[in-house]
Amino acid sequence: MDLASTRFEKCIKCTICTVYCPVAKANPNYPGPKESGPDGERLRIKSPEYYDEALKLCTNCKRCETACPSNVNVGDIIAVARGKFEKKKLNPKLMRDYILSHTDLFGSLSTPVAPLVNKITDSKIIKTIMDKTVAIDKHKSLPKYAFGSFRHWYKKQANTQLQFERQISYFHGCYVNYNNPQLGKDLIKVLNAMNIGVKLLKKEKCCGVPLIANGFHDKARKNAEFNVQHMTEAVEQFNTPILSTSSTCSLTLKQEYPHVLKVDNSKISNKLEFITSFILREFMNGNMPALKPVNKTIVYHTPCHLERSGLAIFTIELLRTIPGLNVIVLNSECCGSAGTYGFKKENYDVSMKIGKGLFEQIKQSDADFAITDCETCKWQIEENSDLETIHPVSLLAQCLTD
Ligand code: SF4
Ligand code: SF4
Ligand code: SF4
Repeated sequence: MDLASTRFEKCIKCTICTVYCPVAKANPNYPGPKESGPDGERLRIKSPEYYDEALKLCTNCKRCETACPSNVNVGDIIAVARGKFEKKKLNPKLMRDYILSHTDLFGSLSTPVAPLVNKITDSKIIKTIMDKTVAIDKHKSLPKYAFGSFRHWYKKQANTQLQFERQISYFHGCYVNYNNPQLGKDLIKVLNAMNIGVKLLKKEKCCGVPLIANGFHDKARKNAEFNVQHMTEAVEQFNTPILSTSSTCSLTLKQEYPHVLKVDNSKISNKLEFITSFILREFMNGNMPALKPVNKTIVYHTPCHLERSGLAIFTIELLRTIPGLNVIVLNSECCGSAGTYGFKKENYDVSMKIGKGLFEQIKQSDADFAITDCETCKWQIEENSDLETIHPVSLLAQCLTD
């Protein structure tokens, strides 16, 4: 494994990345991936003076990397440069970035009193205050917390899960733990129907992507080292695959740890797998539970990080195994939310401009609901279309016969 493989010197200056960059299209102030990435890096290695604050405008969607014919890790180059050179100024926006990125801290404080926190953050007055003070845009709704974490719920399931002969380890991430435990419960239901038990890691922390995106690289690195240690223990002890239901966690654990945070994950890397690729392979090997027909039309939105990982095809093919389901695959476009990016007042308009094409596609589709593998895409689609948006695993859980 190459811990520094950003490959900036491989750039052949074709500018294809700029054509595919959603921010370069929507914001004339953004220099674009080629200039911010490999071109800028050539200068930055001479002197940090060449660091440009406009790199903050990158959403880290990685569509430039997907498009690059020369396999340059453009998004990683930009993320590493931001971690190295971005100057943190003590101001209300720093507080906002801290709140948005420290998901474990605010999740563990909020889940025990979720109804109260959700009511407060939903209030119009509080939204206006947050807009004026810490620049969280008033048009956005902060994600709702669940009343009680997934890990807490799981404790009562642990013994049942151990009864299964085959097991997997599950990296649930912050979204399942604090916001949507139902997705973790759905995963257990689906895998149990396939005679597979679900273990949790002894401990886990946020994969670190919001910390990377908000320039808290030291904290992200600590989380990465912690997670790698616990995943390594699980692999050494049980030799199970480690599955994730979040397309962003999955990419971060596998690629961002070595490329951006320089954390060696080589001992467990080949054990990490995104959930839809695991389930589809099981189905194709004959381990497929009975599924009820769903006579509905869905639109499928490919999250940027799943596109980058090259795994969207597994979700699409998995959806096609559901009897009666009419699957419309939308043109792959960024939804504009990009984790915490779209919540920031200074990014809100650009975020909406980026997502406009996707929202139009959805509105014209006449679908019954939308499917996507990413939590922030779900929030963005639900906020900007009237379509309920669910994870493919939750759809599978609904299709199981009793
Ligand atoms: S990661 Fe996304 S926003 Fe950033 S330069 Fe690449 S395409 Fe543009
Ligand atoms: S697409 Fe790749 S090779 Fe072409 S300009 Fe961008 S980084 Fe360079
Ligand atoms: S997706 Fe990863 S980074 Fe985002 S909240 Fe979940 S665990 Fe944390």
